[in-house]
Amino acid sequence: MVYSIRMRSAKGGPHELGGLHISGAERLSEEIDLASNIESMVKRALYHTKGKADFIRLTIEEILQEKIKYVNLLPIKNYTGDHVSDGRQKAKELLISAGVNVKAIEIGIKSLDELKDNMRGAMILSSKTGNRLDCLGNRGIRVSRMDSVNEANLKKWLEKQNYTGIHIREAIILASKVVFHSDVVAELCWSDDPEYTTGYVATKEYYNRIVPLKDYGSQKGGRIFFVKDDTNIKNLQEYLEKQPVFISKKDGCNGLF
Ligand code: AMP
Repeated sequence: MVYSIRMRSAKGGPHELGGLHISGAERLSEEIDLASNIESMVKRALYHTKGKADFIRLTIEEILQEKIKYVNLLPIKNYTGDHVSDGRQKAKELLISAGVNVKAIEIGIKSLDELKDNMRGAMILSSKTGNRLDCLGNRGIRVSRMDSVNEANLKKWLEKQNYTGIHIREAIILASKVVFHSDVVAELCWSDDPEYTTGYVATKEYYNRIVPLKDYGSQKGGRIFFVKDDTNIKNLQEYLEKQPVFISKKDGCNGLF
């Protein structure tokens, strides 16, 4: 049996009553791993660099096997610059090559920089105009119900490329699900973790890891999904939030993981 586990946590009460978002997490879990996955999510809410959550909501639901979709894991490319301005410049170039308009990119970056409070989810912007197309305010769209098919093999594959942190594991699974949708042109992200300055641009072809995309110590982070202008937002939201997706990869003679 497979279960979806979703966690969101805040400080100063629940999000809907003005609490500050501390952290969230989403997994698809086999029954045997359910308890340990829940434990690590609760620990993450309690011992986060952004503070100790006083509100934690966990939602656990059984997923029907036949509803699960399989999506390919994006390969990784890496870019390292000396300053945030180098990283942002690279992000712009990658987004332009993916088909996002310069004006939309500038609006997107400005919207993330000017966020007063971090969002729980992502903004959806038109890749042509930069207009915000979701009407979800500070909540945004929270991508859930996704995981890797085989955690141990994903870990090995990441470690072979010298990636060991939790951030990239979670981000590459999320990004692979997001850019698979035909209406999504690209994704831009940097973390709200003050100690983690790396971000990425995900396109249909690559997860482009970029160091740095924000200043060390900054608690500001966020995600933008740039989409086609005629996107049916309700359908996209349904896919991102509700469609269970396992991320897998063809790994030469080792087969699927
Ligand atoms: P993180 O990389 O976890 O630090 O998240 C950075 C930002 O991305 C958060 O502040 C949220 O705005 C957004 N975010 C995090 N997780 C998700 C998710 N599952 N779906 C959509 N947006 C997310």
